[in-house]
Amino acid sequence: RKPSNPSSISKVRVIVRVRPFLPHEISARNHDPVPCVSVLDQDFESPEEIAVYLKDPETSRNECYQLDSFFGQEDNNVGEIFFREVSPFIPGIFNGCNATVFAYGATGSGKTYTMQGTEEQPGLMPLAVSMVLSICQNTGSTAHISYYEVYMDRCYDLLKVKAKEISILDDKDGQIHLRGLSQVPITTMSEFQEVFSSGVQRRKVAHTGLNDVSSRSHGVLVISVSTPSSDGTAATVNGKLNLIDLAGNEDNRRTCNEGIRLQESAKINQSLFALSNVIFALNNNMPRVPYRESKLTRILQDSLGGTSHALMVACLNPGEYQESVHTVSLAARSRRI
Ligand code: ADP
Ligand code: MG
Repeated sequence: RKPSNPSSISKVRVIVRVRPFLPHEISARNHDPVPCVSVLDQDFESPEEIAVYLKDPETSRNECYQLDSFFGQEDNNVGEIFFREVSPFIPGIFNGCNATVFAYGATGSGKTYTMQGTEEQPGLMPLAVSMVLSICQNTGSTAHISYYEVYMDRCYDLLKVKAKEISILDDKDGQIHLRGLSQVPITTMSEFQEVFSSGVQRRKVAHTGLNDVSSRSHGVLVISVSTPSSDGTAATVNGKLNLIDLAGNEDNRRTCNEGIRLQESAKINQSLFALSNVIFALNNNMPRVPYRESKLTRILQDSLGGTSHALMVACLNPGEYQESVHTVSLAARSRRI
C-alpha cells in the first residue's frame, strides 16, 4: 500500500486501529474471543474510504460507519500506520506547515501504545521524531521538542523539573502562545528518549493524591523544526508537528462517576466534543470554525485548518462493543458529510 497523498485528502483524516486481544483477555474465556469490529469489503472504487462494521457478539446489535482507513488487530502495524498516514505530513513541516496527529478512544483501547509504543515497538511519537531528525541532518534544520499535558483545562509543562502550570495567551492577531513552555533542542534519538521519558515519568506523578491522571489528561508532544531559507538571506521557516495522546473518552451513564471524577470526565468529554466540532467544520469548509469552545482546540488553532494537515486515529478495544460504537460514532461524525 502507498502512503496517502496529503493534497488529495480531507483536512483531517479519520482512521481506525483495533488492538489485539491481550493474553489475559484470551485466557479468561474458554473459546477464542470474537472481535466486535471488522471492516466490510474495501470499496476499491474509492480506496480512500472504508466501512467499519461493529457487532455485539452477545446481542447481535450492529452499526456501520464510513471512515478513511482501517488497521486491524492481526499484527503489529504501527510502522505501516506511520508510513501511510503520518510520514506524508513530515516534509511539509520543513516548509513551514503545521500538522497534528491525535489518538482518540476509551481508556485501555491502545492510545498510549499507538503514540508512545514500547522499546521494541516504537509508536508514532518516536517514529516521527526519528524521521524529522534524519531530515534535519540533510537540510541543516534544527529540531526542538516540547511536552505538556492539558488537565481540567489547565496546561502543565512536563519538561520542567517540577511540572509547572503555563498560561495560554491570545495575541492580537489571534495567535496562541503558551508562555514559558520549555523547548528542548534535540539532535539524536537518545537525546529525545532521555528528555521524553523524564516527561512521561513526570506526567505519571504530577498530580499527587489523584491516581492515573495520565489517562484523564491530554498529553501533547510538539516537534518544532526551524529551517534556514535556501539562500540564507530570508528568515528561517518554522513548522511543527503535534502528537497528542488524548484523554480517554468516557460514557458517564456507564461509569457512574462522582465528585472530581465526574468533573474531570465532563471536561474531557467537553473538550473531545469541541475537537470533533472543529474537525467537522474544517472537513466541511464551514465559514466559522469553533476553536474557542475548549482550551484544547484554542491551543491547536494554528495547527488545525489553514495549510495544516491532521490525522485522528480512533483506537478500539475489540472486546468492548458499546465503547467502540461511542468512539467510532464520534470519529465518524467529524468526517466530511
Ligand atoms: P490507552 O492509552 O488507550 O488507555 P494503552 O495504550 O495503555 O491504552 O493499551 C492498553 C493495553 O493494551 C496495554 O497493556 C497495551 O500494552 C496493550 N496494547 C495496546 N495496543 C496494543 C497493540 N497494538 N499490540 C499489543 N498490545 C497492545
Ligand atoms: Mg493511555
